[in-house]
Amino acid sequence: MAPADSALIAALSPADALAGARDLLERVWGHRQFRGLQAEVIAEMLAGRDALAVLPTGGGKSVCYQIPAVLRRGVGLVVSPLIALMADQVAAMRQQGVAAARLDSNVTLDERTAVWRAAEAGELDLLYVSPEGLAQPHMTDRLGRLDLALIAIDEAHCVSQWGHDFRPDYRDLGRLAELFPGVPRLAVTATADARTREDIVRSLRLGDARIFVDSFARPNLQLSAERKESASRARTDERVAQLVARRPGQSGVVYCGSRDGADRLADDLKRRGFNAIAYHAGLDPRERDRRLARFLGEDACVMVATIAFGMGVDKPDVRFVIHADPPSSIEAYWQEIGRAGRDGEPADGITLYGPSDIAWSLRRIEGRPMDEAVKQAQVLKARQLFRMLDGATCRAMAVRHYFGEAAAEPCGVCDLCLNPPAVMDATQTAQKLISAVHRLGGRYGKGRVVNHLLGKTKEVQPWEAGLTTFGIGDELSANGWRDLIDHLIYEGLLAEDPNEGKPLLGLGDPVMVKAVYRGELKVETRRELQSADAARTPRRRRRGEPMTPVPEADRALFEALRNWRKDVAAEQGVPPYVIFHDRTLLDIARARPDSAATLARVAGVGEGKLARYGDAVLRLVRDN
Ligand code: ADP
Ligand code: ZN
Repeated sequence: MAPADSALIAALSPADALAGARDLLERVWGHRQFRGLQAEVIAEMLAGRDALAVLPTGGGKSVCYQIPAVLRRGVGLVVSPLIALMADQVAAMRQQGVAAARLDSNVTLDERTAVWRAAEAGELDLLYVSPEGLAQPHMTDRLGRLDLALIAIDEAHCVSQWGHDFRPDYRDLGRLAELFPGVPRLAVTATADARTREDIVRSLRLGDARIFVDSFARPNLQLSAERKESASRARTDERVAQLVARRPGQSGVVYCGSRDGADRLADDLKRRGFNAIAYHAGLDPRERDRRLARFLGEDACVMVATIAFGMGVDKPDVRFVIHADPPSSIEAYWQEIGRAGRDGEPADGITLYGPSDIAWSLRRIEGRPMDEAVKQAQVLKARQLFRMLDGATCRAMAVRHYFGEAAAEPCGVCDLCLNPPAVMDATQTAQKLISAVHRLGGRYGKGRVVNHLLGKTKEVQPWEAGLTTFGIGDELSANGWRDLIDHLIYEGLLAEDPNEGKPLLGLGDPVMVKAVYRGELKVETRRELQSADAARTPRRRRRGEPMTPVPEADRALFEALRNWRKDVAAEQGVPPYVIFHDRTLLDIARARPDSAATLARVAGVGEGKLARYGDAVLRLVRDN
């Protein structure tokens, strides 16, 4: 960037400084307006103050530090947890003509020397480093001799062990306050409940920082969740294949709870003819990078992954995220689902869940080496997630309420908004069920509990036949009771002990159980529970097929632009969207610009890209 920019900014009034930022946003980033709270956060940085910005995934967090880094004197230091993310961001910045570089373990010695030389000569706008890198004294010493414009800490929720993605190497980042006094620091994250926010402020020593929390609405996401029809992996895999098959030509992510599960499902999808790749922490890092590059570079590719995949992967045109196994919390849900539709175009978030999943989640938390209090907090988070998944209120609204957005309204597009389920009061039936489980002493599985309630236990012993709950459940069919059992498991009123694959049904949270028993807490179920005489009806719901199609008239040009982009990206060894987003190509195809000036008006076309690709794009428009 021109050095004049940084020299000027110090002398400007806040309003003029922000006008300069807006000009830069349009000129270099090609975006016409700031989104959400971007302008506020940037103003804070330009004024030299610390801030914490909680913006939803896809909300445009990076601009919040990139623009002030360019405008302020010195280099902006960006702490980022993932090397793949850094490489992408740096590549994208360079495309736009911003002087960005990174220092991470993948950078060769020669490159490293060149990066330091550029930084020391004041030629860099942005320098990306990893938290491990910052732990090395020679790195901080050398940084201390630079003029720092600001320090940005990306994915800041990683400092909190109360959050869902704790990283020990983030804990020491509080030192930055003492190491670089007077340098404004910005912590950014997409997910932080009140407690995580407090933790970020405390750990990063951001005592006086202003906290910006944007709305978590993601109106382009169409959310849905469905109960798994059985605990069988093969059935789940088949359902995932169906969902993928309905989305031809689209890129998506399928999350699995285990490495094995991801490998198996990816193989299964490949056998069915889909372009699927598995991704998890068990793979050799180089192989992992290769697979990531494939996913980023190909237009229709399904990444079947564990949660090792995703943080900071900002492929903008992911059209769907499917959870073959549910996530660990509402935070994780929003973050993972949020990887779909970052370009603002319609995208799907679909979660499959079953009662064995909650048992598995809880068991996993139990097995972790953590404080009892932290475990309790995580158990609560898991339960809250399942209650949302199996609940009856709009999913987007439930999540936003959970994040503290009390005013959030129904989204109108999720499965529950489109097909509002009938809600019924099942408190009395639930009392019978809880009391039966209690009397049976938690020693039996679902089937036996149901038979007990229906009075159908085979060769029933006198002790069981004598219990007051034996045969009291003739208002529901066996399936009705099973549904209710599942529902109470999601509610946390019943719990399954895995018992080596033959799960036993016991009581859940004692406080809630007592409240239901006393009639102080109502139990509501989403669907009509099947009565004893009703026939079993299929559960699956109809679902809309989103994604705006490219209008017929623009398709040829759009495809030509995409092909051209693919070649250019391959030549430069960067993902296609680093060149231009789909959205931008689509807008070009629609607008058919006939001059550099009209092309520059398309969102996503800044000066740097215009200079680099303007001629080629205009030629394509002419010829198609
Ligand atoms: P996240 O908050 O998830 O890190 P990014 O910073 O990666 O989001 O931005 C998400 C997408 O939004 C990017 O493709 C980016 O180009 C785009 N974007 C950011 N700011 C704006 C803006 N003001 N107007 C339009 N698009 C924007
Ligand atoms: Zn909704």
